[in-house]
Amino acid sequence: MNLNEYKGVWVYAEQRDGELQKIGLELLGKAREIADGINEELTAVLLGNNMEESAKELLAYGADKVIYVEDEKLAHFTTDAFTEAICDLIEKDKPGMMLVGATYLGRDLGPRIAARVGTGLTADCTALATEEGTGHLMMTRPAFGGNLMATIMCTDHRPQMATVRPGVFDMIAKDESRVDAAKIDKRTTTFSADVDRIKVLDVIKELKDTVDLTEAQFIVSGGRGVGSAENFEILKELAHELGGTVAGSRASIDNGWLDHDLQVGQTGKTVRPLVYVACGISGAIQHLAGMQDSEYVIAINKDADAPIHGVADLSLIGDLNKLVPEFTAQLKAM
Ligand code: FAD
Repeated sequence: MNLNEYKGVWVYAEQRDGELQKIGLELLGKAREIADGINEELTAVLLGNNMEESAKELLAYGADKVIYVEDEKLAHFTTDAFTEAICDLIEKDKPGMMLVGATYLGRDLGPRIAARVGTGLTADCTALATEEGTGHLMMTRPAFGGNLMATIMCTDHRPQMATVRPGVFDMIAKDESRVDAAKIDKRTTTFSADVDRIKVLDVIKELKDTVDLTEAQFIVSGGRGVGSAENFEILKELAHELGGTVAGSRASIDNGWLDHDLQVGQTGKTVRPLVYVACGISGAIQHLAGMQDSEYVIAINKDADAPIHGVADLSLIGDLNKLVPEFTAQLKAM
């Protein structure tokens, strides 16, 4: 493999049922910085059907160009079709780096691509940088169950591939003046017969009374101090009043009080809402790792020495069973 043939930073712009996902835009934000740092082109890769408007949006969010592969078979995600289409692009265009979101789809797609093109992949990254001098991608992810952070480089193979957690990077401000249809490189692809083994017949969306944590602007999060699944009702009422959603520390999830996908922290989700209300959460380092970039943190804890107060903008010291309903009542009265 001649590494010098591989140039440019690629971001896989995830779409679900024709809708561009925020993770691709977040990745473009970070990739813009990386591409500028090594003086290479930033390309967004979009696979779908009838998605020209989304391709333009990717330019507005920082891509220098968009490779848009259009096909009916790419309207909905299937591992085989998406893997084939992207591997075909990689073989022809030879990118130096490829970033994919560590979403359910990206975690399926990323390793398949890496295996097929014969490169490595660092999964579930929480930080990216480039090495001074070489420009190699430095990919950081929790290792050994989150007990240490490992920085990994892929020095002998290309592209350098990473899946990156949603919510870790900021997208850049949308700038419509960047949109230029000439920067959209529309392609077609040919598929093998394997792709027809799976067809998406219908998409039935799960109706949830919670929103995606990584997108939520208001989060009311509960820890061991909440005491029971039933007692989460008072947090849900507060979340409802704020127009937000509930979440929890690992203690709440391990106790079975909340669904697994509502865990915030190093081994859960990284969130950065406008307001994060931490109720009965001590503020262990692994929890802080997932929420400390929130805009405004309110800590409700009966222990004045709990570490959560160290990252709080407002600390309410006392029993959450009294303070949370009071908070809700005050909001209702407003
Ligand atoms: P505790 O630490 O037990 O704190 C409970 C708090 O509630 C205390 O501060 C107490 O004063 C307060 N309290 C009790 N009753 C009341 C009341 N009535 N009113 C007000 N306050 C009250 N944790 C995560 O959250 N997310 C992760 O992703 C995560 N990943 C981990 C990965 C690894 C490798 C390891 C080793 C640990 C991880 N943890 C994670 C666990 C973490 O170390 C802590 O154990 C966990 O965050 C503690 O949860 P907690 O704050 O809810 O409980």
